[in-house]
Amino acid sequence: MVVVGAGAAGLFAATFAARAQRAAGRAVSVLALDGARRIGAKILVSGGGRCNVTHWQVGAADYAGSTAPAIRKVLGRFGVDRTVAFFREQGVEFYREADTGKLFPITDSARTILDALLGAAAGAGVRVMHPAAVTALARGPEGFRLETAAGTCTARSVILATGGQSLPKSGSDGSGFALAAALGHGLARPIVPALVPLVLPGDHWIRGLSGLALPCRFRLVSAAGKVSADSQGSTLCTHTGLSGPATLDISRHWLVSRLHDPAARLLIDWLPALDAAAVERLLLDAGPRGILAALKPWFSERLVRCLSAEAAAPPTGDLPREARRRLVGVVKGMELPVSGDRGWNVAEATAGGVPLAEVRLDSMESRVCPGVFLAGELLDVDGRIGGFNFQWAWASGFTAGSAAGGADRG
Ligand SMILES: Cc1cc2nc3c(=O)[nH]c(=O)nc-3n(C[C@H](O)[C@H](O)[C@H](O)COP(=O)(O)OP(=O)(O)OC[C@H]3O[C@@H](n4cnc5c(N)ncnc54)[C@H](O)[C@@H]3O)c2cc1C
Repeated sequence: MVVVGAGAAGLFAATFAARAQRAAGRAVSVLALDGARRIGAKILVSGGGRCNVTHWQVGAADYAGSTAPAIRKVLGRFGVDRTVAFFREQGVEFYREADTGKLFPITDSARTILDALLGAAAGAGVRVMHPAAVTALARGPEGFRLETAAGTCTARSVILATGGQSLPKSGSDGSGFALAAALGHGLARPIVPALVPLVLPGDHWIRGLSGLALPCRFRLVSAAGKVSADSQGSTLCTHTGLSGPATLDISRHWLVSRLHDPAARLLIDWLPALDAAAVERLLLDAGPRGILAALKPWFSERLVRCLSAEAAAPPTGDLPREARRRLVGVVKGMELPVSGDRGWNVAEATAGGVPLAEVRLDSMESRVCPGVFLAGELLDVDGRIGGFNFQWAWASGFTAGSAAGGADRG
């Protein structure tokens, strides 16, 4: 059996395929091919070098892409407890970050996780070969034929775990989409960056507040006026626009909606702790002391001055009724003139990919091309910030590997 891609999902799938072969009393025959010169580059940079392996509580609502029932079914095959148990077997212990619920290795080092994955794969008898990018994959009379830069090989079954397109220099350059499409798979489009900072026009005042971090809420409002997505949490103003968890979480929704609903608007709520009526009262109560005094407990003076200017309201002195209304609107729902995103080199995940409707959810075997199994970010599933993308890689990789190893005959 050949596993294409030795990232998070591929190493997991290869390990469980080899274990399944051994459990079935067969000789272990699992070869993992990866195009990268360095294996696991993405794992090493994940979580800021600490690798946020999973989250203490994972549910289908933490993901977008294919339908929630389909995602839930795959997640249910390998839960967080099993992830923790798997790594514990490899000598890795975790701690839970109090304010986010994210799980990290106690070493605070992604290297621990990569070593554990490689150790488990080697222990199960998996052979890893790289750099060996698979450039073509086709079904033949005796199974599958794979063309690689290092030569041609054949396999009775194949696990495709090539990832998506985020961080292409790590090896995940999107070539897996072409391999899946060549086998007859459709792709859920658009395929766009997910978990990516958003860019604002060069003269936008938010760029001048680079370094400012505060809790905000984002709402994506369709042309019809319906809130189609929202996110809340820490938000960071940067020299190119906005970043931080809340921005990253809303980014894929904005990018997808921009194509389907170009009139959709992205609104930022600068003060989610108070509703509009409370903000209005705050401004009224300040009277002649003005906006600066009213908003001082919540915002820096620089931000207040920018918000006042955006609302064309005087930062000090009495606030006319209309200006007060405009300011409340800006504080609670300022429209962001997003001009783009930071792109694949910065994105942490991929939205779009092979739809789950095209795989059997109990095995991840392709319905389009039996004998091929799919796992990881290649599929049309992307999680929010917090360890959810790795949990998807573990759950889908386990399911694909166990099934392929159990079914594989050579
Ligand atoms: C900067 C950054 C930080 C992140 N931090 C976190 C985090 O802390 N927590 C979290 O849950 N998620 C995080 N993610 C997301 C997470 O890393 C991915 O969702 C996850 O790695 C996907 O696993 P995968 O195995 O499907 O794909 P990948 O990890 O992308 O692995 C795919 C592998 O396939 C190989 N490959 C691709 N095409 C071919 C081909 N044609 N032939 C052979 N090999 C090929 C690639 O070289 C690569 O090794 C982060 C992502 C980035 C970019």
